[in-house]
Amino acid sequence: MAFESLTDKLQNVFKNLRSKGRLTEADVKTALKEVKMALLEADVSYKVVKQFMKAVQERAVGQDVMTGLNPGQMVIKIVNEELVRLMGSETTEIAFKPGNEITVLMMVGLQGAGKTTTTAKLAGKLKAKGKKPLLVACDVYRPAAITQLQVNGEKQGVDVFAMGDKQKPVNIAKAALEYAKVNSYNTVLIDTAGRLHIDEDMMAELEEIKSNLTVDQTLLVVDAMTGQDAVNVAETFSEKVGIDGVVLTKLDGDTRGGAALSIKAISGKPILYVGMGEKLSDLEQFYPERMASRILG
Ligand code: GDP
Repeated sequence: MAFESLTDKLQNVFKNLRSKGRLTEADVKTALKEVKMALLEADVSYKVVKQFMKAVQERAVGQDVMTGLNPGQMVIKIVNEELVRLMGSETTEIAFKPGNEITVLMMVGLQGAGKTTTTAKLAGKLKAKGKKPLLVACDVYRPAAITQLQVNGEKQGVDVFAMGDKQKPVNIAKAALEYAKVNSYNTVLIDTAGRLHIDEDMMAELEEIKSNLTVDQTLLVVDAMTGQDAVNVAETFSEKVGIDGVVLTKLDGDTRGGAALSIKAISGKPILYVGMGEKLSDLEQFYPERMASRILG
C-alpha cells in the first residue's frame, strides 16, 4: 500500500505525543525530529523537508501549543495542515475554454509513466462530465501506443484520431484540430511521444506542437513509484516545456510517498489527478486534504 511506512512512523510519533499529558519543548523537538526522519525515509526531497520542518517548528514551538489544553493534538493538527499546504491546499481543475470552444490538452511524460493509459482515462472522465473529447495519437515511436489508444478509446466510447506512425506528431496534431473543428468536438487530448529519458528531441517535438497550435493546458504524467525521479522530471518539464499540472500515476502501488509530497513544492505545479490502478476507471481527482488524511492514517 502507498505511504504505508510513512503512515506507520507518523502514527508512532503521534502516539507518543498523545500519551504524554504535558509536553516540554524537548518532547516537541524530539517528535519533530522523528517526523523529519519519517519524511526523508519516505523519499520526500530534502529541500522540501527542510522547508516543511521550518514551518511546522515555528508554529509548534510557539506559545499556543505549549500552553494549550492538548499540546499533542495541536502538534498533530499543525503537521496535518502543513502537509495539506505542501500539496497545494486547493484542488486544481483543468481550465476549459468557455462554451463549445475547443480546449486542447497536451499529455506529456516519459515512456512507461502511464501517459497513454491516463490520456484515455481522462477522456472518459471528461466525457462523463458532458464534454465531447477527441483523442489524438501522436505517440508515433512506441510500438503499440497508437493501437493502445484506439482500444482504450473504444472502451471509453471516445473517438480517436490517428494517422499511423509515419507522420510528424505536429502534423498529426494540426490535422486533428481541423478534424475536431469540423466535427464539433470541444476537447482535444493529444497523446504525445514519451521517451525513456528526457532528451533534446523529445523537448523539441513538444515545443514544435506547442508553437504550431494553441495548447491550452499541458499535463505531465509521472510515475509515483519512481520517487525523486518523478519530482526531477516534473521540475525539468516545468522549466523546459512549461506544464500546467501533473497526473501522478501508480499510487495504488507501494510507493513511499515522496513524489506526492514533493512535486508541488519543487516544480510549482499542482497535482490534478492520481492514477489508482490499471483499469480505465482508476483515475481520481487529487484532493490535498484527503491525501494528507490518508498519509496520517
Ligand atoms: P506510457 O508509455 O507512458 O504511455 O505508459 P502506458 O500508458 O502504456 O502505461 C504503462 C503501464 O503502466 C501499463 O501497464 C499501464 O497499465 C500501467 N499503469 C498506468 N497507470 C497506472 C496506475 O495508475 N496504476 C497502475 N497500477 N498501473 C498503471
